[in-house]
Amino acid sequence: KEFRNNVKPNWCPGCGDFSIQAAIQRAAANVGLEPEQLAVISGIGCSGRISGYINAYGLHGIHGRALPIAQGVKLANRELTVIASGGDGDGFAIGMGHTVHAIRRNLNITYIVMDNQIYGLTKGQTSPRSAEGFKTKSTPEGSIESTLSPLEIAMSAGATFVAQSFSSDLKQLTNLIEEGIKHEGFSLINVFSPCVTFNKINTYDWFKENIVNLEQFPEYDPSNRMAAMNKIMETEGMLTGLIYQNKQRKSYEDLITGFQPESLSKQDLTLSEADFNKLVAEFK
Ligand code: SF4
Repeated sequence: KEFRNNVKPNWCPGCGDFSIQAAIQRAAANVGLEPEQLAVISGIGCSGRISGYINAYGLHGIHGRALPIAQGVKLANRELTVIASGGDGDGFAIGMGHTVHAIRRNLNITYIVMDNQIYGLTKGQTSPRSAEGFKTKSTPEGSIESTLSPLEIAMSAGATFVAQSFSSDLKQLTNLIEEGIKHEGFSLINVFSPCVTFNKINTYDWFKENIVNLEQFPEYDPSNRMAAMNKIMETEGMLTGLIYQNKQRKSYEDLITGFQPESLSKQDLTLSEADFNKLVAEFK
């Protein structure tokens, strides 16, 4: 089960995205997948390169559109394990409409956001995850916009699996990705992934000082939606671990099986000339 390929990532040395790549590869192996059973679909940004660095089916999509592609892949072949991945700009700015609706649709997809709180590929502009007052090339006097909370948005959109991790905590991150893959529905895993080149505020040390690991609260129950919302707000979104999981709600695929038991990849889509002509006649 070799999920490594011979492509050398061209991320900057020290970029948090390296650990996320390693965690996906380990998690896929740990849950017993073969490379041909996994598809990794990414958007645009430094993070978007990840689909080319994993030995599996991969598609480097377009900006903010990893999730529409991933949902199409999953619906066409429900037997594939599908991971979608991208940055905070990709998923929470241009792609936010897709993110919210993918969450509430609840297809069995694991969405890993590499959250560095800045736009790295375009050389350092404010993202929806940047803090108020954050100075970048696009906000030289400091950002005057409020910071978006993906965890609160996911919860209010009806998410069935919400987790957060830190790229330095490879053990936790790998475990969460494994749990996300096993979850029957959509799993959002937001990962603090420092951009060492352009974000000099949210550094590895900054995250280590500010993260609140849910392991500190042994009584915490991730099936309690209200407790999850409270903990997200109490920690101002800085908590890591499995924040919320609803195992009761059925995935989109489970529900659609009642209408169409076989996915497209299993159906005979050949059309006879007579059937084709009949179809065309219906639209004349
Ligand atoms: Fe990583 Fe930032 Fe370099 Fe992009 S610019 S590869 S996000 S460190």
